[in-house]
Amino acid sequence: MPAETAAPAEALESNPWVSQAARFDYAARKLNLDEGLWKVLRYPTREITLHIPVQMDDGRIEVFTGYRVQHSVARGPGKGGIRYAPDVTLDEVRALATWMTWKCAVVNIPFGGAKGGIICQPRLMSQGELERMTRRYTAELFEFIGPERDVPAPDVNTNEQVMAWIMDTYSMHARQTMTAVVTGKPLDLGGSRGRKEATGRGCMLVCEQAVQKLGLNRDTTRVIVQGFGNVGSHAALLLHQAGYKIVGLDEYDGGLYHASGLDIPALIAYRARNQTLQGFPEAETRPAGELLTAACEILLPAATENQITTHNAARIQARIVCEGANGPTTAAADEILRDKGVFVIPDILANAGGVTVSYFEWVQDRQGYFWKESEVNDQLRHIMESSFQDVIGYAEKHQVDNRTAAYMLAMDRVAFAIKLRGIYA
Ligand code: GLU
Repeated sequence: MPAETAAPAEALESNPWVSQAARFDYAARKLNLDEGLWKVLRYPTREITLHIPVQMDDGRIEVFTGYRVQHSVARGPGKGGIRYAPDVTLDEVRALATWMTWKCAVVNIPFGGAKGGIICQPRLMSQGELERMTRRYTAELFEFIGPERDVPAPDVNTNEQVMAWIMDTYSMHARQTMTAVVTGKPLDLGGSRGRKEATGRGCMLVCEQAVQKLGLNRDTTRVIVQGFGNVGSHAALLLHQAGYKIVGLDEYDGGLYHASGLDIPALIAYRARNQTLQGFPEAETRPAGELLTAACEILLPAATENQITTHNAARIQARIVCEGANGPTTAAADEILRDKGVFVIPDILANAGGVTVSYFEWVQDRQGYFWKESEVNDQLRHIMESSFQDVIGYAEKHQVDNRTAAYMLAMDRVAFAIKLRGIYA
């Protein structure tokens, strides 16, 4: 094992790639991972940077920087979303691609890990500008993506429509319709029933497992959700329907609190009408970020990276942290949560419901045969529950925290695949 190189404390709080690498090194040491495989797995296999020219509506040409990183294709094609955001960085996409490798291995689906991102302000762009940017990005990546190579999906600020443009652009270049190049598509274009809710549903399923494990009572379990995008809103709704009290919702523009439980269906309807949660009448307001440390049993961060840090981790009151987002806890904060005895359901397990139903979508596209929603949900439940048991069982057996267990389990599976394949000269 290479000598330990301590990452600067600041980077452990702010750079997801540094957080990922610190956890990888820690798990590799516990696993006694072969030094050669350590080197193979520590860095992505391929990193593509693109400068994408786009004609804007006013006639101007703008050039956007975009990335696609493929961390590993040892267990199958690369798999992972594409995000559009102003603060995308190569290090962030690297971390997200690597997390996809571990995530797919934790739930044991036959994919590697990849991720993409474009630095842009999607809220300030027209549909036409977004479409031209998406199509050019896809065309530039034509040789590198595909149903057997690397299969993108939605992530922050991308959706079914963006996936439909990717599918169409790829198909035009391939001279045939190839729906399996991307997942998270609209139902009418080879999408899967249950895909949109899948990440939130997966969160709900592992929360149920954790509640049972800790002997908590559903009716008295208070939940606080951060983020009300695709993951947070579906997780909140499904937990609400399952009988949990969602007492708080933290959004980037402010939080809402109601001690006896927020009316989640009413909130979803309110947000659809007003484009914001602010002004919702039946709740108290809270400054953004404050609810992360409020009293609850389950905290479900479903927004973005680096939300639970050394600045607030010690004040977290939740018994369970269910990581709906990728990388919401910094590596520097891990230890604080560990010492407090918080039961962390790590991102690479907690939010794996999305990519699991992406896998079902890919299978359905390739078979040309589509499943009923109940079938999708049953198979998802089976995979999430057994993966939860695998990770928790591993943690208990090897006396490590849940996150380290998930990394070790995943890294062992990927390392085994590399050993079986061998290194091509
Ligand atoms: N973007 C989602 C994630 O981070 C889904 C990826 C996929 O379905 O490929 O897991």
